[in-house]
Amino acid sequence: MNKQCTLREAISVEGVGVHTGKRCRVTVKPADENTGIAFTVGGRWIPALAEYVVSTDRCTTLGADGVRVMTVEHLLSALAGTGVDNARIEVEGEEIPVLDGSAAPWVERFYRVGLQEQSAQRRRIRLTRPVSVMAGDRGIWAMPHPERLLITTVHYDHPLVGTQVAWFHLDKIDYLEEIAPARTFGFWEEVEALLARGKALGGNLDNALVIFPDHYSTPLRFPDEVLRHKVLDFIGDLALVGAQVEALFVAVKPSHTLNTAFALALRQTIQGE
Ligand SMILES: [Zn+2]
Repeated sequence: MNKQCTLREAISVEGVGVHTGKRCRVTVKPADENTGIAFTVGGRWIPALAEYVVSTDRCTTLGADGVRVMTVEHLLSALAGTGVDNARIEVEGEEIPVLDGSAAPWVERFYRVGLQEQSAQRRRIRLTRPVSVMAGDRGIWAMPHPERLLITTVHYDHPLVGTQVAWFHLDKIDYLEEIAPARTFGFWEEVEALLARGKALGGNLDNALVIFPDHYSTPLRFPDEVLRHKVLDFIGDLALVGAQVEALFVAVKPSHTLNTAFALALRQTIQGE
């Protein structure tokens, strides 16, 4: 589909934020063509664009005019993964509900109401030069390429996880089948430390995959679920570019900090041309 899309009807979801532990309510509404994705919080408008990122500590937080919304990445990934270009997201609370820790509950709701094709062409930009962001042993690169391909690798010093690598054709992927179900994960030691810092207050075994030294908290949805969740997050953070970028993407140990810096670098490159 090369035309822009929005939802046919609004959907509403209530749930708990994984970091704040507070209840929040989100309504995703159809929006006019060429308006993109934007959040409204307490009547204030926050466009889903990389320059509105105010924090990347454990999740991606957007903010403007003193209001903020935490943990936007899974909802943005669900919108990008299903091809929703235009939507207005009304948030009551300060965080997007975590649901089951994946993007599948969002996608299922979008498909239930259906997508509405609009008349304007989808905004798709061909990259003409490489863009990269690196930090220590992590990096993300985009090379000009006619189709959107993504190679991702992660490595954890953990016997159950280790090194995982996979590639996806972002234009042909079955997002609901291949990516959306992959859940948020955390290593047990890390989860304990987060709780001590007052983070992950809404986290529990129903909305995250916890990785213990010798077992997982629940059966995996994919053998490489950890990697696929990183891909889910990457797709969500990449949506902050505000357009589809034709490129071969290579992401080595991606994180929200790196992803959002990369989205900003891509925006600046595109705007500079
Ligand atoms: Zn995530």
